[in-house]
Amino acid sequence: MSFANKVILITGASSGIGAHAALHLAQKGASVSLVGRNEKRLKAVAEEIIKAGCPTPLEIVADVTKDAERIINETIKHFGKLDVLVNNAGVLGADSVVNFDVNEFDRIMSTNLRGIIVLSNLAIPHLEKTRGNIVNNSSISGMRALDSFMSYSISKAALDQFTKCAALTLAPKNIRVNSLNAGIVKTPFFEAIGINKSNETQFYEEIKKDYLVGRVGELSDTSSAIAYLASESFVNGTCLLVDGGRITSGLESRSSN
Ligand code: NDP
Repeated sequence: MSFANKVILITGASSGIGAHAALHLAQKGASVSLVGRNEKRLKAVAEEIIKAGCPTPLEIVADVTKDAERIINETIKHFGKLDVLVNNAGVLGADSVVNFDVNEFDRIMSTNLRGIIVLSNLAIPHLEKTRGNIVNNSSISGMRALDSFMSYSISKAALDQFTKCAALTLAPKNIRVNSLNAGIVKTPFFEAIGINKSNETQFYEEIKKDYLVGRVGELSDTSSAIAYLASESFVNGTCLLVDGGRITSGLESRSSN
């Protein structure tokens, strides 16, 4: 699978899944446009990509909830086109219908959903020219209710519907739209709920018991899935579950034999 001569815009490229996917896609020849708010971390990712001998990336220090127009414009100005938009930036928060803060709900929805719709809308004319595609980073949480992460689950379930609606609307323009729905992957994402270097081993050990493959996700799992969705022309409107069997383990009775 080669992405030579392809321009790929990746939001949330300063950390975790987005940073790893950016390097992975760049190693396959893509010119990548990296978006994140943290300038220092974004620069570190760009330097790693350059060090690996890949095409020099574009760094865009920006907030997906506010700067969508600038993000698209800077990418087009620099590279002249856009082949793939990877809507990866996302935030986590713990809440429920009992423990509810409307500002927190707005923060989660504006990053995980609203920003993605705005960016996708602005990308359409450019993706139409390249017969390009959109990959949304959704989550297993869009498919199973996590009641103590209510707003996050709602944002990802809504994102899955956005993926399907957009795939239907954009098919006549030859633009595909798909989602990756990953299970737990080891990244700094869980710092928002108090998981850090001192307790992450115990956190992942506890969680992996529910994964049929006996482990939680690694960054290579999500990067290869993002590359697959970005490249495979027969896949459209799909919410691709990459969860080590977590959903099946929760739904089916398990034999002890
Ligand atoms: P990280 O916390 O490592 O990365 C999150 C990224 O999103 C950072 O690069 C951050 O950059 C960026 N980001 C957040 N808010 C904004 C914003 N307003 N504007 C621009 N960038 C923003 O977590 P992950 O890599 O794990 O998460 C990436 C995506 O993967 C999320 O959408 C998440 O929901 C999804 N996911 C994660 C799973 C996991 O288990 N880790 C499982 C399933 C899905 P900065 O701070 O520099 O702005």
